[in-house]
This record gives sequence, structure tokens and C-alpha cells, in this order.
Amino acid sequence: MATKKMKEQARKVLKESFGYDAFRPMQEEIICAQLDGKDAFVLMPTGGGKSLCYQIPSIMREGTGIVVSPLISLMKDQVDALVRCGVNAAYYNSSLKSAESREVLSRFESGELDLLYVAPERLLTKTFLARLEKVKVALFAIDEAHCVSQWGHDFRPEYVRLGELRDILPDVPMIALTATADEHTREDIAERLKLTKAKRFISSFDRPNIRYLVAEKRQPLTQVLQFLEDWKGASGIIYCLSRKRVEDMAVNLQRHGIRASAYHAGMPGRVREKVQDDFLRDRINVIVATIAFGMGVDKPNVRFVIHHDLPKSIESYYQETGRAGRDGLESEALLLYGSDDVNLVRRLIENVENIDQRRVEIHKLNSMIALSEALTCRRRVLLGYFGEEREEPCGNCDVCLDPPETYDASDIAIAALQCVREAKGDFAIGYIVDVLRGSKNARILANKHDRLKTHGYNPNINVDEWMSILRQLVHQGYFSQDVSRRGALVITKKGRALLREKTPVILAKYQPGIKRKLRRFSQGRNEALFKKLVEVREKLAEEEDVAPHTLFSDVTLTEMSQLTDPTDEAMLSLSGMGRHKFEAYADAFRPILEQHARDEAAKESAPGTSLKLMAKGPPPTDAQAHTWQLYRKGKTQDEIAAELGISQKTVLNHYTALVRAAYHIRVPELIEDFDTVMEELDNADPYASLSELKQSLSVELSNEMFRLVLAWREAIGVN
Ligand code: ADP
Ligand code: ZN
Repeated sequence: MATKKMKEQARKVLKESFGYDAFRPMQEEIICAQLDGKDAFVLMPTGGGKSLCYQIPSIMREGTGIVVSPLISLMKDQVDALVRCGVNAAYYNSSLKSAESREVLSRFESGELDLLYVAPERLLTKTFLARLEKVKVALFAIDEAHCVSQWGHDFRPEYVRLGELRDILPDVPMIALTATADEHTREDIAERLKLTKAKRFISSFDRPNIRYLVAEKRQPLTQVLQFLEDWKGASGIIYCLSRKRVEDMAVNLQRHGIRASAYHAGMPGRVREKVQDDFLRDRINVIVATIAFGMGVDKPNVRFVIHHDLPKSIESYYQETGRAGRDGLESEALLLYGSDDVNLVRRLIENVENIDQRRVEIHKLNSMIALSEALTCRRRVLLGYFGEEREEPCGNCDVCLDPPETYDASDIAIAALQCVREAKGDFAIGYIVDVLRGSKNARILANKHDRLKTHGYNPNINVDEWMSILRQLVHQGYFSQDVSRRGALVITKKGRALLREKTPVILAKYQPGIKRKLRRFSQGRNEALFKKLVEVREKLAEEEDVAPHTLFSDVTLTEMSQLTDPTDEAMLSLSGMGRHKFEAYADAFRPILEQHARDEAAKESAPGTSLKLMAKGPPPTDAQAHTWQLYRKGKTQDEIAAELGISQKTVLNHYTALVRAAYHIRVPELIEDFDTVMEELDNADPYASLSELKQSLSVELSNEMFRLVLAWREAIGVN
């Protein structure tokens, strides 16, 4: 059993190397299992923190942890990030030149590596396997383990043979990790990796920081632009169904000045790689893509995912929206839901030859439709689909935040049904709406439909609202749309029943726009400051030629932007700021934080003084600089005197000099009756000498303090 001491040790590694204070749910148990030499099968959603589950035991256990990971680009980023945490990590795959390969292998053989990331096809070569028998292996970690299963969404033939590792090195613990939520795939993975007896760690698949939004698709480009308006400069992915739509959308966004690129399987590999790399390195913000994009894109700060078109199953929807918010910060998933898309996907499914498969796909599509049309908490529907029951509504989806108002629309529904019945022919939604609104356009006149009873049934309902009503009636099964007859409305059995006998038809009230202006995410940070910190991160990343997020996550920078005082202690307490990173990078961020702190302090304590108290150079003397350093760390006058071995008076003299050099010493905090002193000085005889002035005050001040007050008044411009 993992002892208390081992647990303490694990927590120490967590803090020192990775800069985190506490384990997330299950991380500790998973780590302990491996420290005990046991196998583990970890099912945890994206962003749950799977990597640490094998990284920490690899660091702690004797020997090297071998990590199998499917994508070369991911390996590099992961290793870059680890190295920056001071961990001995390397990767071994086909992207290395032969000299580099040799070097990695010799480091591996010398036993200095804590972690080695290996591509599966390299791992399973005879020569590499022979090496494994000579070197101490701490554990095998199979990341993205669903790749071994043909049921999964990303089967990789190279993964299949990984089960052999169990026969070759039966004593080395294996941990398999995946974010797949699908039961069938899980069983398959366990079997193929011979992990059926391994302890399973299954966490909730909820992604609480993702806000789910569904909007009726009307003018998708406008809707997307409107949405992006709130996410300026943030990273996001827009999924479209076809290559053509991808390209059109990308061009349109570029025209609107958005840094967007298209991505689909029809593009040359090199171009795709470039787009992906630009995205990872924040050179572009938005990727417009087919579902070809995503697997292996481990970008933690994707803030939004938009589905321009309907995904064909809840699995796909979950997978794709799951690419948002890996870093745990608030993110949004927007689905534009339109009945044309439903028809399009239906048509695609109708082409599926195998009847069983077709049935499965229709079932999956129907579940997706139900989710899109849900009038109850979407997260509940989503998790329920994966077998996770949840009592409470989530409070972070469009339905919870702004429950749709519903109304009984049975009269309207009946009128629409009658209209379609009267019109007798192939008419799609748009035409029927025109009739119901009483239009006398050429087509209606030619068809003599201005004579229908329902012509002009209600012109006061506008076109958009009518469209919405008819779509909902389609969704609710009163009409179907005949795809082979250009979407002609057909009355269904349910519709005929309603015509025979009026029953309540509950529709959601029409709401123009995307319903989410409810609570804008502000992430609780100063955006201007955050942006400056992001720039520093970019510069550092550029210098080291790594992806920015391998240095610091947005979480770290967000917390950093909230520091009131960037002392060493405060910097080290930031989530994601381990020792190693602190030493390497903290100073790069300091000047910006200090400047900001000065600005803020000045703003707070004396409105109008912020511009005046802004030091341009270093403090006049070294002694004053020492005082300033301690003052800035929040030390009191007593503490500074004690620490520097100087008198309290000297500290005050330093303060005075600093204030004269425009350093922001918060003088008002130093004197109890500061306001009284200021008032009395304001009203004092302008011709009084300094000593008379001091005498006239009702509050007793030392000479040093008095001089400091005067210096401060001068600095902020009241004399
Ligand atoms: P996954 O592989 O499950 O998608 P990651 O391992 O990439 O997730 O972790 C997601 C994010 O959460 C990363 O930024 C990681 O550094 C962070 N993280 C992981 N564990 C913790 C923890 N215990 N405390 C704070 N942040 C954590
Ligand atoms: Zn909800």
C-alpha cells in the first residue's frame, strides 16, 4: 500500500514541479495505485488532469516511465512543458534526426530520464523491445487508449499490438487513459490491453466549465459574427459539415477582420500542419474545420466551439465541444440548430447500406435532435445519454440560464396544418409562411392561394417567428419535410390527429438573437493586464520556440493578473508556478505587474495621483532600494527597520526620498488621522514657517513623518 510518506512525497512533486496545491478528484488514488505497482484504467474527461496521473509516478518510481501517445506534435508539446517544469523528459519518434535519436536513446539507457514519450510503432520494434529489457521501466502509460479500439472514433492500427507489452514485461504496471465516454469502446480497450483486471477509475464526464448553448439557425454568418464579438482575440473552433462550408465561412470571417483559417482533409498535409501550428501558437484565433480537425489538438485555452451544422450524434457533439476549456476556465459551446441540417444528415444516413448500422445512426441522430430541442437542462440530457444521472439542473446552459417561455400554440398549429392541407402540393416552409402572413406575391397569386381560408391568418407574427413556429412543429412531429421534394411539408399522422381533435401544442416562445447576453464571462480579471502578460508569454515562447501554453496556462496568467503584489511568495503560490518555472520566468513578468500595482495603488489611495506617482528610474540609493523592495513585498515600517537593521526614522527618511522619486508609498495608511492632518494643512496659514505649521496640527507627528507628509502632498500636487 502506498504509505502516508509516499502520498506526502507525491504532493510535494505536485507543488514543486507542477506548481499545484492539491490533487484533483481521483488523481491521488490513481497515482498511489501505480506507486503500488498496480495497473490502472482511467476514464476521465478531457481537461480532467490525466497527464499528471502517470507523470508523477514516473518521476517517483525508479526507472523511466514510457508513455505511448499517438501524435508526434502532442509529444513535443508535452515534453516541452515537462522540461520547463524541470522534469527529465524526452520523446522518441520519427520526427527526430538520427543524431537526436541516438542522443535520446543514450539518455534513456543511462537511466537519467523520468519520462520517455514513444510513438507506438517505434516502441514495438524488436530493437526497442530489446532495450526495454536492459533498462529499468517505471511504468507504461497508454495515453488516448481508445486508439486501440475499432469502436472508438480514432482507431490506430499501430496501437493494437500494445497488448504484447504485457507478455514481454509482465511486472511493469500499465496505466491506460482515455476520455472516451462510450461503454462499448471502454470494454474493447480493457480487453485489448489485457487490463480487464485493472482497477478502474471512472470520473464524471461532466465538463462544468463549458456552457452549452443552442440557438436556432437563422443567419448563421451573422450569428457567428455576433457570437465572436464577445470573444475577441480568444481561440475557438467552428465546425462545419462540408469542406465547401468550411472554406466559405473562413473567407467570410477573414473579411470581417478575424484571424481565421480553414482546415479540412482535402487540404495538403503541410498546409494543415501549418494551420494547426499557427493555432497552437496563437497566431490565428479561429479554425473553421470539418470534423477532420481536433484529435491530437491539445490546446488548453480553446474558449469556444461553434457547431455551425448539426453533429450526427451526441458522441460527436460531446467530443467536439470537449475541445473547449481544457484549462478549466469558462468556455462556451454554441450549436446552431436548423431543420435543414436535420434533413441533410438524414439524407446522408439514408445512403448507409447496412440496415442495422442505418438504424443505429438514425437513433443517434434522433438523440442529438432531442438534445437540441430540449426544454430542460441540456447538461442533464447530455450526461443522461452517457448514463450519468443528475438531479439538479446545471445552471450553466442556455435552458437553465434563461428558461424558454412556453405557450400553448394549438390554434396556430392547427392553422398551419390547415394551410398545408388546403394548399395541396409541394410547398416548403417559406411559402406556407408567406400564405399565413397574407402575402400576395406572384407565386401565391398564380396558385390562387390568396383565396385560401388560412391566407393572412396572422400577419402580425413576423416571418422569423413564423419560421420558428413551423420548424418547431416539424421537430415535434406534426409535419415532416420531404427531402426529395425540396423540403415540402407533409402532414404526419400526429398532425392529422391534431386536426381531428384539438390538443395542447406547447412551443417555446420565439426569441431573436442568441440567448446568452445573460452573464458575460469576465474571468474576474483585468483584461488589459492579462493581455500584457499574454504578450510576455508569447515573447518567451517565441524565444524558446515552443507553444505558449507549454510555459504557462491561461489559468496561471489569470491568477497572476489578480495579484495585488507580485512578491516571490505570491508568485510561487500561483497555480502552475513550480520552482523551476519560477526561477526561469517569474522575473520576465515582474515589471508589468509592478507597474500595474503602482498604477492601481495610486488610483486607489488618491484619485488623480496615478500619473504623478510613477517612478521612472531606480531608487536614488541602494539603501532606499532595499527599503523599497521590502515595502513592495508588504512589509511594515517596523519589519523593514528590523530586517535591514536601521532605525524607524531612517525608514521614514527612505520613504520620503522614494516619494520624491515618484515611488508610490501609501502615506495615508501610515498615519491614523490622516484626513484631519490633510484638512488642517489645507487650511493652514500659507505664510507660516514649517515649524509653525507642524505646531498648528492637532495630531502629533515626528519630524520625519511630517517631512514625509509634505513630500507626499507635493508629489500628488497639493501644496
Ligand atoms: P487531460 O489529459 O485529462 O485532458 P491534462 O492532463 O491536460 O488533462 O490537464 C488539464 C489541465 O489541468 C492542465 O492545464 C493541467 O496542468 C491542469 N491540472 C491537472 N491537474 C491539476 C491539479 N491537481 N491542480 C491544478 N491544475 C491541474
Ligand atoms: Zn443546465
